[in-house]
Amino acid sequence: MNDEFDVVVMGGGIAGLTAANRAAQQGLTVALLEQGTDERYACNSRYSGGVLHIACHNVKESPEQLVEVIEGATEGKADPVLAKALANTAGRAVDWLRDEGAKFIRVGSIVWQQHVLAPPRPIVAGLDWKGRGPDVTLRQLTANLERRGGRVLRMTGVALMEVQGRCVGLEAKDAQGAHQLRAKAVVLADGGFQGNAQMVREYMAIDSARVMQRGAGTGRGDGLRMAKGVGGRLSELSYFYGHMLSRDSFSNDKVWPYPQLDELGTVGIVVNAAGERFVDEGRGGVFVANTIARSADPLATWAIFDHAVWEGPGKAARIPANPNLEKAGGTIVRAATLQELASTTGLPAERLELTIGAYNAALANGALDTLNPRRSAAPIAPMPISTGPFYAVPICAGMTYTFGGIHADEHGRVVTDSGRPIDGLYAVGATTGGLEGGSGGGYVGGLIKSVSFGLRAAEDLAARLTQRVPLQ
Ligand SMILES: Cc1cc2nc3c(=O)[nH]c(=O)nc-3n(C[C@H](O)[C@H](O)[C@H](O)COP(=O)(O)OP(=O)(O)OC[C@H]3O[C@@H](n4cnc5c(N)ncnc54)[C@H](O)[C@@H]3O)c2cc1C
Repeated sequence: MNDEFDVVVMGGGIAGLTAANRAAQQGLTVALLEQGTDERYACNSRYSGGVLHIACHNVKESPEQLVEVIEGATEGKADPVLAKALANTAGRAVDWLRDEGAKFIRVGSIVWQQHVLAPPRPIVAGLDWKGRGPDVTLRQLTANLERRGGRVLRMTGVALMEVQGRCVGLEAKDAQGAHQLRAKAVVLADGGFQGNAQMVREYMAIDSARVMQRGAGTGRGDGLRMAKGVGGRLSELSYFYGHMLSRDSFSNDKVWPYPQLDELGTVGIVVNAAGERFVDEGRGGVFVANTIARSADPLATWAIFDHAVWEGPGKAARIPANPNLEKAGGTIVRAATLQELASTTGLPAERLELTIGAYNAALANGALDTLNPRRSAAPIAPMPISTGPFYAVPICAGMTYTFGGIHADEHGRVVTDSGRPIDGLYAVGATTGGLEGGSGGGYVGGLIKSVSFGLRAAEDLAARLTQRVPLQ
């Protein structure tokens, strides 16, 4: 195929479908490339829980409030220009999705679950996406694009076409061979680099084989490689969005991507094979998952807690560990004493008791700072490990998507190290960096980021093309 479009979008997740539809809505000719060949191809958007939120806040809060929320969640490390752009767009992003036919429900008064794509997934363990809100929404967006005259091409984007520093299209391939798709602009929306073991090792110093892929694994860093190849800036590549999962995930598909086990490990403690703490659990599950992934043995990690945690925070998550982990066949070791817990898990009893003793004492004496590693009391408040039965759950790091990536400006334009936008090149969604990840933990919300910047990129592009402003 040799064809010409106003815009070619690479990636058919929610970011790419938003950009493509918004561009077509404004009269541009659009091709959207998706590498997946199944009718309902796998991608993180389809697997997602469907909650549109900003750092666990309602996206309809005022932009000023949302900027504060983003700053707080990222410990002030989010790019302020991107934070403001997201905060200004999030509310109308939800309205736009609704106008496209997406349905939302709200879950009671839970502040961050006021916009959940419907029908919501059931409260059960495992992967359960067919016919759920995100799946229905992606299919609706695909139908909308085709109705607007957009082309949905089942192809893999391979390389950017470039003339004198300007992006003029995308080379792609499918079973028929190679294709050149000429375009006035290309939007990269391929979802991150979590599925590329070499990039994960190079940029994050993590061995992918010892981390559970907590998503579709379809983001292989193609966009990042292409953007880098034309001088695009990359930002904050070190961290990923993810959670603690049962270590059984590697052999039991029923225990991932839910329940995530953050509540157990962050309210109690996380220990290694030596029975020692090695991470500040109070900084939250995303931070802990990142630390586990980089630890000496990511597959020898345990969450240790007591009955009060199991019956309290263990039941609190959207899809809680209690009782879903056990129902799905996940390993839970229960013991009347710490001695017995150690002997069943193979953890060294004396060291484990010392670790728990030191933790309990520091908690009781308000001396958590003296622990090594220190234990923060916020955002996750610790609970003692004192009420039997005691629990140990084998855990691992689950990587959902990479926080860092291509640095795009507030309009989604890919910029060089000097901050100059690259003509005709945009990037949106999880393939971009700059908002999250600077602090190792700050999750802002993958879906809302994708939809908001998908809209912004298409609007910028349309304004430039229709007003004949040169792309720069
Ligand atoms: C289990 C789970 C639960 C989640 N829950 C939530 C939630 O409740 N709320 C929330 O905000 N976020 C959630 N997320 C995160 C959210 O799903 C993502 O951040 C978001 O969907 C990213 O969208 P995207 O379009 O950028 O990427 P994706 O959805 O990953 O789409 C990228 C697409 O690009 C395609 N692609 C890749 N390379 C190429 C190529 N070279 N050529 C052509 N196509 C290519 C891929 O096949 C894929 O279809 C969750 C994620 C998971 C996995």
